Amino acid sequence: MADETNGMDTEPGFMNPVAGFGVTFKAMFKKRLTEQYPEEHKTTAPRFHGRHQLNRHPDGLEKCVGCELCAWACPADAIYVEGADNTDEERYSPGERYGRVYQINYARCILCGLCIEACPTRALTMTNEFELADSTRADLIFTKEQLLAGLEEGMVDTPHAIYPGTDEQDYYRGLVTEAAPGTERQVAVSKGEQPAGPAEPEGADA
Ligand code: SF4
Ligand code: SF4
Repeated sequence: MADETNGMDTEPGFMNPVAGFGVTFKAMFKKRLTEQYPEEHKTTAPRFHGRHQLNRHPDGLEKCVGCELCAWACPADAIYVEGADNTDEERYSPGERYGRVYQINYARCILCGLCIEACPTRALTMTNEFELADSTRADLIFTKEQLLAGLEEGMVDTPHAIYPGTDEQDYYRGLVTEAAPGTERQVAVSKGEQPAGPAEPEGADA
């Protein structure tokens, strides 16, 4: 009669029940990998793909030109952009256009980074921030105001005029390194801000 076990030992060995705990015993003496998050934060890799940031030029003007290339590159359809024209009275970026509306939906985003590769002006980059969980879908849609980089030394908040005597190309050549002396923030009429009226004469309500 042929051997149906192909020569393998099918007899239950005495040590088999104990051998089953071998993996458990080995793991008991290995270094623990448990991380005490959120009490202890682990430092991410320098090029970690975290929350996005919309960058500014050194004088505070915005790098985003509202071209929508990031939105077209996104495989998850997570980015919504509406561009608009700058005017001399209300300027957000050095060139013709700026990103009037900019949103990233972190309920969709898979943090792949294709959008930042597509951006022609390096307006869009990714930070090391990864704490993006929230309790509602609406809170996971980050607006331009949330994504825009903060103001550093030498910057004036937008809208404001281009550095006198320069053009858009000078900004990309790195020739503008700070806001021109005396640069003031313009009135954002498109956002509903009202120009300041004439000052009330002293004692007008007397
Ligand atoms: S990281 Fe990827 S998924 Fe997220 S917005 Fe950019 S392209 Fe879309
Ligand atoms: S972030 Fe970059 S790619 Fe996206 S709209 Fe602005 S300039 Fe264009």
